[in-house]
Amino acid sequence: MLKSTDAMDANNSVQFNFDNSFARSLEGFFKPCQPEPSSSPKMLQFNHALAKELGLDPVMLDSEAGLAIFSGNAIPEGSEPLAQAYAGHQFGGFAPQLGDGRALLLGELIDTRQQRRDIQLKGSGRTPFSRGGDGKAAIGPVLREYLVAEAMHTLGIPTTRALAAVTTGDEVYRHSALAGAILTRVAASHIRVGTFQYGATRGDVDKVRALADYAMARHYPETISAENPYLAFFEAVANAQAALVARWMTVGFIHGVMNTDNMTISGETIDYGPCAFMDRYAPGTVFSSIDRQGRYAYANQPAILSWNLTRLAETLIRFVDSDQDKAIKLLTESTEGVQAIYETHWLNGMRAKIGLLKEDPQDLDLINDLLWVMEDGKADFTLVFRRLSQALHGDSAPVQQLFNQSGAFDVWTRRWKKRLEQNGVTAEAGAQAMDGVNPIYIPRNHKVEEALTAANQGDMAPFSKLLEVLAHPFDEIKGNEAYTTPAPATDRRYQTFCGT
Ligand code: AMP
Ligand code: MG
Repeated sequence: MLKSTDAMDANNSVQFNFDNSFARSLEGFFKPCQPEPSSSPKMLQFNHALAKELGLDPVMLDSEAGLAIFSGNAIPEGSEPLAQAYAGHQFGGFAPQLGDGRALLLGELIDTRQQRRDIQLKGSGRTPFSRGGDGKAAIGPVLREYLVAEAMHTLGIPTTRALAAVTTGDEVYRHSALAGAILTRVAASHIRVGTFQYGATRGDVDKVRALADYAMARHYPETISAENPYLAFFEAVANAQAALVARWMTVGFIHGVMNTDNMTISGETIDYGPCAFMDRYAPGTVFSSIDRQGRYAYANQPAILSWNLTRLAETLIRFVDSDQDKAIKLLTESTEGVQAIYETHWLNGMRAKIGLLKEDPQDLDLINDLLWVMEDGKADFTLVFRRLSQALHGDSAPVQQLFNQSGAFDVWTRRWKKRLEQNGVTAEAGAQAMDGVNPIYIPRNHKVEEALTAANQGDMAPFSKLLEVLAHPFDEIKGNEAYTTPAPATDRRYQTFCGT
């Protein structure tokens, strides 16, 4: 597996201190597997800050030693590479065996905040779960995932992270030959709703129980001592995912493939394929070329959240109560409660976006009316919220200009200002709080495309600049205006592709 003695020497000096609990505890949910070597790897991007957070040596990793590991040419000490098994509902249809077809878990480590994190290579070659695929990834999708994951992180939204992106020096074949690349991904874990489905569909009760026990201990230890631990576990996952989807909705994020294999038990966003941020507010927005029915459209995401959680609940029935009817009743009550939990998270998020510090029964109407006015006025989602704070300071023009015609918006603004006064929120405090939650910089689709196109031609400068801008999404900086605006209007609808 090692390419050269250089790589081996280098490898010897990188310490990960792996502690591989998944491999130890969950026999049957993975297959050991080695990465395929890369012919002439090059580092594209390395995340120093994340390496430090993980307790790793950034200098050592951002060198030949790290490159050998990130390209699959060297296996660090203590790593037990494995491909995880999972099933999943894809666009509503059940696939009993998916699994890591192009990813490998190198191992787990305990980070500087005592959190257990998975270190995974994505795009490192075929695995026992590759089916017809090549197990590889191309530079575009790898950099896209790097960028959007890091943007989500700086927005404060739970997400897997990107530690490194490398090119392999080998070609991958999609519509044409593309530069092969590997992403090193970091996650609280890679356990998905689909991991539970994988065990359940095989009828292996003990294995599903072991998986649940493992996930509880790793992600929701407080549920172990609950009166009904497995029900509490389900509700903890439901709450985490509901909070997550609410965060997506408040920034206009469309995941694009909310299949059950792409929903984590930890509540982190995972698998940035055809995802994108919405420009003008239109609830039916779909970017993914494969989502022809709009199943995963922006406004459908909360309903899909419940649908996916119901699939998880189905795998837990026998652990919730020995009386099946009673277990189903309890889990049904919990799944039916998901939308209310989601709405609470969403409403709190939206309240903050319009500067409301206290709750009022009228808030839902006020927020929904703004969204309606935005839809009707074809206004940019991100900019409306950001520019609202200026209106508080008496400068209404920047936000008004975002609407096709601002009459209905002006009426709404008067209601909103009255509501803020009732709450005793000063313009200063309101505006400051709003700017802290409403980003000025999001990964605008045309900017992402521009960065990826340049990277494909060997120029990483636009990518680096975009990454730098997105590192501080709430701090408006002079000179970065080009990163704030939606793409100039064209006849063509923006489309994203899965990149597989
Ligand atoms: P995703 O679109 O990343 O959610 O992947 C869906 C499923 O397809 C997962 O089981 C992946 O491992 C698998 N897959 C995607 N791309 C490839 C590929 N190039 N080679 C093998 N398996 C793949
Ligand atoms: Mg996936």
